[in-house]
Amino acid sequence: MIYLHVPFCRSFCTYCGFYSELPDKGCGQGFEAYGDAVCQEAASRRDKIASTLSVNTLYIGGGTPSVLPPSVLSRIVEALPYGPYEEFTLEANPDDVTASALSLWKSLGVNRLSMGVQSFDDSLLRWMNRRHDAAGALRAFSLAREAGFGNISIDLIFGVDGFPSWEESVRRAVSLRPEHISAYQLSVEDGSALSDMVAAGRYSEAPEELCRAQYDMLCRLLGEAGYVHYEVSNFALPGYEAVHNSAYWRRVPYVGLGPAAHSFDGKRRRWNTASLTYTSEDEVLTPEDIRVETIMLGLRTARGVDYGLVAGEACDRLLAEGALVRCGGTVRIPEDRFFVSDDIIRQLI
Ligand code: SF4
Repeated sequence: MIYLHVPFCRSFCTYCGFYSELPDKGCGQGFEAYGDAVCQEAASRRDKIASTLSVNTLYIGGGTPSVLPPSVLSRIVEALPYGPYEEFTLEANPDDVTASALSLWKSLGVNRLSMGVQSFDDSLLRWMNRRHDAAGALRAFSLAREAGFGNISIDLIFGVDGFPSWEESVRRAVSLRPEHISAYQLSVEDGSALSDMVAAGRYSEAPEELCRAQYDMLCRLLGEAGYVHYEVSNFALPGYEAVHNSAYWRRVPYVGLGPAAHSFDGKRRRWNTASLTYTSEDEVLTPEDIRVETIMLGLRTARGVDYGLVAGEACDRLLAEGALVRCGGTVRIPEDRFFVSDDIIRQLI
């Protein structure tokens, strides 16, 4: 499993606190230097990469991978000679989706596109400082279909106060029939423009009841449309659950390349620093770290975790309250409690 982080964005979204650089800053040389660094890292970690290929996936995320010049993207993919991949995902901004870009991505082996649509409400997209509008997202989606992409995921954001367009956005997403939908609640991240707006009193977080109602509506509409709710924030048509991300949640080892990328080998977590001239740091996980991580990741999925991992007084109480369901040797959070999964997990660990 390989993750490649592309730390470039053409503009910064209101809510985003991720590390990312404006490509113009490096005047194109930033892309080339980035390509050199990543290819070098891929070569020096070849053995490590080979040891993680029991799940043969490549995920190029960011940032905005779709802003990479074709020559740089091609060079990096060629420096990773492990394909064809069972799943090769590329995250794309709808504005970067053109017939020629799609044809390049296809020729490189990309077989899954993840599009950051976020909303189909133009006023909300402007508030988020997204580059595209709703028409642009629809155009990008149909271009991708025309180019033969049969596995497309759409990202949406809910829980934004003052924009009553959530139901319409979900319905429009469903009408496109993407194979996968991820929906995240807006959160105030350190370092984001949104956190400055909150500090200046120009935005207040949406009330819990509104977020809950929007999440419930999402679950209902996607359930009616045949999507499987297989992780708190993720829905897929049967057979289209994300292979790469599902393996993260099972704590399968992976290698992360590029600035700010994380790697994991089962016992040790390593992360590259957030800079174009990155180095790496790591930590060895204790048995308790591993237990907590297994519970936190597993209980966010519909599969749940082994009962033995969480057995105890808190687990018995949560089972009696219906906040957990036991099925043989497994315990999971039922869908109607997914919204409060963080609280349930906190009680267990
Ligand atoms: S949300 Fe994505 S596109 Fe927007 S600034 Fe963050 S990384 Fe870039």
